[in-house]
Amino acid sequence: MNSNTRHNTDRTEPDENSPQEYDVVIVGSGPAGAAAALFCARAELETLLVANGRSTLQKCAYVENYLGFPAGIEPQSLLDLARAHVEQTDCTVRTETVDGVTQQDDTLVVDCDGEAVTTEELLAASWSKSEYLDGLGVEKEQEEDGPVDEIVTDEDGRTNVPGVWAAGRITGTHHQALVNAGDGARVALNLIETFRPSYYNDWVVPDGYYASFDREIPTGVEEIDHEERQRRANAGQKWMREFF
Ligand SMILES: Cc1cc2nc3c(=O)[nH]c(=O)nc-3n(C[C@H](O)[C@H](O)[C@H](O)COP(=O)(O)OP(=O)(O)OC[C@H]3O[C@@H](n4cnc5c(N)ncnc54)[C@H](O)[C@@H]3O)c2cc1C
Repeated sequence: MNSNTRHNTDRTEPDENSPQEYDVVIVGSGPAGAAAALFCARAELETLLVANGRSTLQKCAYVENYLGFPAGIEPQSLLDLARAHVEQTDCTVRTETVDGVTQQDDTLVVDCDGEAVTTEELLAASWSKSEYLDGLGVEKEQEEDGPVDEIVTDEDGRTNVPGVWAAGRITGTHHQALVNAGDGARVALNLIETFRPSYYNDWVVPDGYYASFDREIPTGVEEIDHEERQRRANAGQKWMREFF
């Protein structure tokens, strides 16, 4: 087993009275949490995204610095696009508050509005409250220019508590949505590696790309032929036209 691997991927069937089990629970669906959920779900982890309401981005008047929107975009539209993207995966999305997290052996028990769910990994992408982690003893420090307690992580996004990760604004990254989304994706990829040590890249490439280098298609990569590329491009354009 790779040193990054904490997981036995064999699952026993839960009985109907036991709490719902996930590989990863992500708290917060701003840019950081939504990006993390997208990557975890695409990597086929059983993923739950829990968020209780407003992203900080809803305070913004108009977003002009999110890459890919040269004329800018309304903050709510950007969040709706992110949510719709996550919802196209198998990620479970719940609008609830995480009130606390406790540890039972190697499992984290997450209190979602009074209902317990269990998970192997938890990724905090909440702002500005993180008291729900206090029972675990997650290390925090007060932000430099404000009252908020930021979560302390190592360079991979791990906190001092095994199985608990954090990304986005709550870890002291810049107050910029694009940076926070990238941070969520980055930490999610590190987390995914603990389940799938051979995971290489979430890529879609042209048919035969790896054969042309005399290589096997790595885990996480999908090769598609010309017809499928065209079909996806048409479906993508249609989706965007209907959204806007
Ligand atoms: C006035 C203003 C204008 C801004 N303008 C811009 C701009 O123009 N461009 C730009 O790039 N950035 C801008 N920002 C910054 C940007 O909004 C943030 O950097 C970004 O939203 C942070 O992303 P995040 O995912 O880390 O956190 P957030 O977007 O704040 O998301 C936090 C999430 O955590 C959830 N949450 C919190 N606690 C719990 C809990 N206990 N249980 C469940 N869910 C919980 C919330 O519901 C939310 O979904 C602006 C910020 C402000 C305040």
